[in-house]
Amino acid sequence: MKREMIPVPKPRSNFLTVQCEKCSATTTVFSHTTANIKCSGCGEPIAQSSGSKARILGKVVATLDQ
Ligand SMILES: [Zn+2]
Repeated sequence: MKREMIPVPKPRSNFLTVQCEKCSATTTVFSHTTANIKCSGCGEPIAQSSGSKARILGKVVATLDQ
């Protein structure tokens, strides 16, 4: 039986620039952060740890690959 090569998207970790929807300040967040991240401007939570990939609560305006 022939095996087909299926490209598997690797779960890559990267940094995200997240913009707060409340005050528009941007904060850089690690995509797999294990901490809850708050906005650098107003303290509103913008990212939550969810086991693997963080749950982003704000708006992702940029992705920075490592
Ligand atoms: Zn804010």
